[in-house]
Formats: sequence, C-alpha cells, structure tokens
Amino acid sequence: MAKKQFQSESKRLLDLMINSIYTNKDIFLRELISNASDALDKLSYRSLTDKKIKVKKDDLAIQLSFDKENRTLKVIDNGCGMTKEELEDNLGTIAKSGSFNFKENMSKEEKSSIIGQFGVGFYSAFMVSDKISVLSRSIDEEDANLWESEGADGYTITPAEKKSCGTEITLHIKEDNDEFQYSKYLDEYELKSLVKKYSDYIRFPIKMECTHHELKDEEKHEYKDSKEVETLNSMIPIWKKKQKDVKEEDYENFYMDKFNDYDKPLKVIPSSVEGMISYQSLLFIPSHAPYDYYTQEYEKGLALYSHGVLIMEKCADLLPDYFSFVKGVVDTEDLSLNISRELLQESQSLKLIAKNIEGKIRKELESMLKENREEYISFFKTFGVQLKYGVYNNFAQDKDKLKDLIMFYSAKHEKLITIGEYVQEMKEGQDTIYYASGASIAKISSLPQVEQVRDKDYDILYLTDYVDEFCITALQEYDGKKFANVSDGGLDLESEEEKEETKKVNEDNSSLLKEMCDEIKEVKEVRFSNKLKTHPVCLTTKGDVSIEMQKVFDAMPNQMGIKAEMILEINEKHPISQKLKELYKEDKEEFLKYTRILYSEAQIIAGLPIENPTEISKLICDVLSK
Ligand code: ADP
Repeated sequence: MAKKQFQSESKRLLDLMINSIYTNKDIFLRELISNASDALDKLSYRSLTDKKIKVKKDDLAIQLSFDKENRTLKVIDNGCGMTKEELEDNLGTIAKSGSFNFKENMSKEEKSSIIGQFGVGFYSAFMVSDKISVLSRSIDEEDANLWESEGADGYTITPAEKKSCGTEITLHIKEDNDEFQYSKYLDEYELKSLVKKYSDYIRFPIKMECTHHELKDEEKHEYKDSKEVETLNSMIPIWKKKQKDVKEEDYENFYMDKFNDYDKPLKVIPSSVEGMISYQSLLFIPSHAPYDYYTQEYEKGLALYSHGVLIMEKCADLLPDYFSFVKGVVDTEDLSLNISRELLQESQSLKLIAKNIEGKIRKELESMLKENREEYISFFKTFGVQLKYGVYNNFAQDKDKLKDLIMFYSAKHEKLITIGEYVQEMKEGQDTIYYASGASIAKISSLPQVEQVRDKDYDILYLTDYVDEFCITALQEYDGKKFANVSDGGLDLESEEEKEETKKVNEDNSSLLKEMCDEIKEVKEVRFSNKLKTHPVCLTTKGDVSIEMQKVFDAMPNQMGIKAEMILEINEKHPISQKLKELYKEDKEEFLKYTRILYSEAQIIAGLPIENPTEISKLICDVLSK
C-alpha cells in the first residue's frame, strides 16, 4: 500500500505540532472528544430529516479505553463516521483554507499562533502518539476504512471491517522520556480528571471502564477491586448551567475548544431568558479577529440547539452583520425540531431571539465602554471597522443603534473618543463637528486645512479608515450638530471682514484664476484663500464626495467614475501669490508651469497620485535652473 503524502503546508504544520511547540499536550483529548461529539450531533441531526436513519438517543456515546501494556488509548464514537473520501479530505489536509506564511526561524509565539489559527484539531494527537489509526464507517456506507499514519511522512487508507457506523481512533502513545511522562495518558485517574477539566459540558456521555475499590472486610482493611463502566462527564452543557456555578476559566476553555481560538475571549456573555420566548445563550467576543475575518470565506453565525440537538452550526440569522465577530451558542425549546432551514429563517421565534441577542451584545459593549475603556478600545481597534460599516450599511437603518459605539481619533486628546464626547466638549458658538481624513494620523495632522481649524481651538476628528467618511456621511448629524470636513471648500470659518477681503482678491484676479483653472482640467475652480496659514496650496472639495472617498471609489474593482469636485486653493498671503501675479503679466509660459507645479504639490499633500511624474519633475527642474 503506497503511502500518500500530506499536502506540503499540512506537512509543515504537522512537523511543528509533532515537535510539540504546543506546550499543553493535554488538549489533544478534548480535541478528539469534541470531534466525536460533533459526529454524534451530525448523526442526530441526520436522523431528524432522514427516516431511514434510526437512532436510539440513549445509545449515542463516546467511549474511552486504554491499554497500559500495549500503550494504546482509544476514543470511540458511534456517530456519523467518515467515508474513504472524507477520511482523505478531513485527515489528509490540515489547513483547509490554504495559504499562510511559514517563515524560516519562526519564534515560539509565531508558531503557536499559526497552529492556533487553524485549530489544533485532530492533529494535536500527534503530540502524544507515534502512530494513529482511525477506523471509520460512514452512516451512508456498508464498508469501513482504516486510516493510519506515523506522522509527517504520510498516511495510508485501507479497506476494513466495522459492524456499525462510527469512528474508532487508536493512539499509540509515545514512550516516556526525560522531558515528558507520556504514560499519564494511560492512567485512569489522569484521564478522568482531563475529561472533567476540558470536556465536562459535552452533551453525550463519555464512558470509561473504571476500577472500583470496594471494602471487602472492614476489620482486615481488605479491598476488592472491580471494574465498572462510568460516565465521566456531567453532560450538562455549559450554557445550561447557572452562571454562578461556572468558573470564568471554564467558559474560556469552552470557547477556545469550540471556536478554535488559541486566545481567551475578550468578553464572555452568558444569559438565560424566560418569557415570551425562552432560551439560553452563551456569547463570546473574541480578543482578536479570526484569521479569515476580513475575507469572503468568513461565515458569521451562532450554533443553534433545540431540544438538545444541534440544528445548525452557524445560524447567520441570529446575528446582524455588524456583530458578525460574535461567537457562541443559542439553545431554545421554542423551535420545532423538524423545521427546515427555509422555514427557520421565517420563524418569528428566531427573529425574536435574534433581536434580543442584538440588544444584549449592544448593552454589553455600551457598558464596557463606560466601565472599562481600555478593554473597549482594544475591542474597537479589532472590530470597530465592522461597527462603522454597520452605520452606513443597509441604508443606514441601524445608525442610531451604533452611533454611540463608534470612536475616532481626536486631534486635541490624541486618542480615541466617541462623537458624544466630542459634542460635549464643543466650544460655545461651535455648531459643527469637524473632521479630517487621510491615510494616517501624521498625514492628516500635516494637512494645510487642519491648521486653520486647530488654530481656532476646535477639536478635529481624524478619520483614517476607508469606511470612516462613509460612516460620517450616513450619520449626517449627531445631536443636531452637523459634520463638516475641514477640506470642504465651503467651510465657513472666516470673519465677515476676512470674507470681504478674500472676495475682493478673487474678483480682482478673476482672469488669472480662470486661466489657471483652464490649464488644470481636473479642478473645478482655482481661488485665493485665507485659510492657509503657512502652506502655499491645498485641494478642497465641493459637494458630497471628498478626496478620501474618491480614493475608495478608485480602488473598487468596478470603478464607477465617481469623482470629487476639487478646488485648488492658493494662500494669498504666501509669497508665491505675488510671484504668480507677476508672471501672469510678464511671462505666460512660466506662469502656466508654476500652475502645474502648484497643482501637483496640492495633489501630493492630499495623497493623490501624480499621473505624469516625469513631466512634473522636468517642469520643476526647468524652474529651479532659472
Ligand atoms: P475540526 O474539528 O476543527 O474541523 P479536525 O482536524 O479536528 O478539525 O477534524 C477535521 C474533520 O475530520 C472534522 O471537521 C470532521 O469532519 C472529521 N472528523 C474528525 N473526527 C471525526 C469523528 N470522530 N467522526 C467523524 N468525523 C470526524
């Protein structure tokens, strides 16, 4: 039988695993038990919809057994089992979703993070085994297959016999060495306590033959040993337990196991609701975004149980998109078991639960923001984009629910603040919430337009995410206060006197400005302005589309040609204005060169690409060498 090779990335991951950089070897057992429990869940669910499949609920169980002499540990389930193809697909590839970076000389943390991202899963068993055999028969087939592997150099699959469906995993436990006593996994007491610690909540019984010491003769202190099958776990799902009976650590372990995270969750949200609708839910806010969170592949949803059966692994309807990062479980008796997925979507009960859950998560975040700002900021840095996206998505219908949860960087405080906090601190007579956008805080703070507003001692919200301006545009206002982009050409910050002055300068130089405007097709207007203190030029915009928004549109795959209406503003107080006026009279050709150079300067400051850099650099050199 030829050995099949693991896919190359899987092989490397396996190498990492076998060389046991994962310090906690114990977790292999909970991974195998958790897989067995999933297989039992799948079988129960199939039996609901497929009349041919008969399942006696009480028979469903997970069995552990060990043999000290032969150094084997077995994890057996009578769940759905796997076909040959499934064995190949599920156990032949570790990282199903493909590419990730293996670097030379990775640090210990980097290595565990890679493993963590993909869930240690079945392969963690190689941390404690020299060889693993998986005998499995699928519910859909008569034949069974035996998958065997001794680690990174491949695996074999051979036809085999098995009386009924399910999976039997045999681990050949490694020999003890100086560093680690692998024999602990062949010890009754150890195994019992590992099950209790990591897998107590599993809803199916985990059975093992255990030794009982029975007192035979009290006087002589004689004991008799007998063997009896015991159920090791309490079988009460953790979300059904009273909150006060569960340790935070148990919730965290459950989360890490169930949702394949190597880190504890940032927040655990248990709740039990009785009333119009009754359900238990156990929700988690992860402390970091899953590796695929910002990709198409990420599927949101909560695990949905009804009457003790897992109906759906990821019920998307239970979570709004803006809370798609939330993981968890919902268990209700209020849904019919035989409900089809299509009907489930229409179910009023489900809608009610979803509404409650949305409210619960929101309240939790609101109080985190109030009571533990540091924690909230850590949350917001990870998932804030999703909330801001939620503000403008779906025609901004959810904006009021989210407007107090979003934060922006404040120029004055040099840290994140909420819009409410900005409004509270507004100066007397200030009726506008100022914002500025750009690629980074540093870039924004050096924008010419920012200077004028900061000079008047107004705070400015700095927008650095591509979604930010869309979010602000969708909000329109906060507490009756309108938002204004400091780069808006219509920004009204000048005194009446200054306005008069500017108006006059522009009128007096109208033909010069028109000629500049004709030279630069990309701008709608060229004007002298008062707003630039030290800078010579800047670009501002008219209308709804700002320069930053145009950049987002430009980056979209199917460009819609949405363009900002730009104004080139020239600082009238800057010596360059005088120069322009002189050249306009004396040397038209030179005047137009200056015009192009100044426009390019404004483009660079605004972070816009220069389309003809060689031409511009030539112009600059021409002028410099005069
Ligand atoms: P994960 O459980 O995170 O998907 P694993 O590597 O632990 O990753 O398992 C890979 C897949 O193999 C599972 O998703 C499941 O389809 C299958 N599998 C593992 N163990 C069993 C089992 N005992 N019974 C049926 N299928 C199993």
